[in-house]
Amino acid sequence: MSGPRPVRAPRGTELSALGWQQEAALRMLQNNLDPEVAEHPDKLVVYGGTGKAARDWRSFDAMVRTLRTLKQDETMLVQSGRPVGVMQTHEWAPRVLIANSNLVGDWANWEEFRRLEQLGLTMYGQMTAGSWIYIGTQGILQGTYETFAAVAAKKFNGTLAGTITLTAGLGGMGGAQPLAVTMNDGVAICIDVDPRAIERRIEHKYLDVKADNPAHALQLATEARDARRPLSIGLLGNAAELLPQMLAEGAPIDIVTDQTSAHDPLAYLPVGVDFDDMATYAAKDPAGFTTRARESMARHVEAMVGFMDAGAEVFDYGNSIRGEAQLAGYDRAFAFPGFVPAYIRPLFCEGKGPFRWAALSGEASDIHKTDKAILDLFPENESLHRWIKMAGERVHFQGLPARICWLGQGERDKAGDMFNDMVGNGTLAAPLAIGRDHLDCGSVASPYRETEAMLDGSDAIADWPLLNAMVNVASGASWVSIHHGGGVGMGRSIHAGQVSVADGTALAGEKIRRVLTNDPAMGVIRHVDAGYDIAESVADEKGVRIPMREE
Ligand code: NAD
Repeated sequence: MSGPRPVRAPRGTELSALGWQQEAALRMLQNNLDPEVAEHPDKLVVYGGTGKAARDWRSFDAMVRTLRTLKQDETMLVQSGRPVGVMQTHEWAPRVLIANSNLVGDWANWEEFRRLEQLGLTMYGQMTAGSWIYIGTQGILQGTYETFAAVAAKKFNGTLAGTITLTAGLGGMGGAQPLAVTMNDGVAICIDVDPRAIERRIEHKYLDVKADNPAHALQLATEARDARRPLSIGLLGNAAELLPQMLAEGAPIDIVTDQTSAHDPLAYLPVGVDFDDMATYAAKDPAGFTTRARESMARHVEAMVGFMDAGAEVFDYGNSIRGEAQLAGYDRAFAFPGFVPAYIRPLFCEGKGPFRWAALSGEASDIHKTDKAILDLFPENESLHRWIKMAGERVHFQGLPARICWLGQGERDKAGDMFNDMVGNGTLAAPLAIGRDHLDCGSVASPYRETEAMLDGSDAIADWPLLNAMVNVASGASWVSIHHGGGVGMGRSIHAGQVSVADGTALAGEKIRRVLTNDPAMGVIRHVDAGYDIAESVADEKGVRIPMREE
């Protein structure tokens, strides 16, 4: 019987599969479960509550075995983390097609999902967990950095210096918050119930210090704020208890958000439950746990609204906490906005989103070379330059070295093409896997997050991510995925992902140019269709054809 064991992707140029396209899928699957990358590798959980890379260890072994023998004209089909078939296709087809956590509308809730999961029939794929392109906390760091930069631009004259941000959740993605705030020169107090989460972020240099108690955290925070010195402070405790307490005491907070795993009520610790008892209690009485977690989230959100009423900038950071608080009967849950309509949508209109690449060689120098090359390729993009420079200095690689930056229509294909040439001419030691988060401009329908408050009310239309996946299959991506429930939970999102492997061949170049043109173009056309002017200008400028505008 196969069981938990440490997993690490091979490095170097020796192949254990029949080609780099298959080898890349194999290494990225293994990399997702690298203890440096995954939150709970022994349970195959990568990040985001219970987001998994494979359904069970037997399925993991079968995928590894199959990828090693998969031919250049074959495609492995993965159904919620389990390989279910190998089909003969052709060399332009993806080597892997993945569908994770999808349920028919009326059945698309956590209860039914858990029932099916317990029967061993499905798994939660989150976004990049089950589609094998999670690169550790850096992946979310850039988006979080951009979001806080946008908050600074909107409310604080372009810098968070002299402000205090209060948030919770220091998990796989939430752990990016402290560094994103300090990169914007602000002070952050970050609450988590799990002492290991705090220790881990300090170890990875994403978090600066740990406070002994709320008063100590506030003292450290106000001292740093007054000196306009960036500082991030970890605070152990339950956010549903500490936020109301800090609000009542009049804590001088400027910005409030949250990244606990609120999208999954079984991953949010209710007030009055010990952290050590959480897993047993959630397994024993999921319904009772859910009710208590939602009640606590209502208290948590009520305090966030309280901070907003007191003048703070408050936003939902895409974890569905407003929806859960509303389910518990709190009627002002949606008083503050989600971060996408508040800050990110204009970027989506330009086809911008979280572009990323991982060095299959395992060599940090490959990423450093791509950093330099991308700066040379886009000499005028100041925010890109600021980010790449800071990332080079402060980001600690987890697993295979990787980089992320937000690029848009007309930029991603250029970068991809250049990377493929760098592999082809030997500048890089081995191929790159080029992918993105599902949280992208044209790849997701998620009415509480990416598609909240669309101009034409099309928030819940899920044709777009399906078209996105199909277009990536048709354009030559190396693996393509369609997931349900990532980010915000069951019943609330449908999204797609793609990864393309730059192996230096002419064929890979052809595929990459198409995929990295068409994939962001989905964002442009989606936003043109919804009536956004910026998207119309981008479509005109970049030559994105839209039949309904050609009358
Ligand atoms: P995670 O499960 O790795 O971490 C969640 C953390 O919350 C854990 O450390 C846990 O101990 C802590 N926690 C749980 N209950 C708590 C409570 N009551 N008080 C204080 N801390 C508590 O999850 P993650 O990967 O960090 O993701 C966090 C959330 O952010 C998820 O809901 C995810 O879907 C969402 N998310 C947001 C974005 C975005 O771009 N904004 C992107 C992806 C995901």
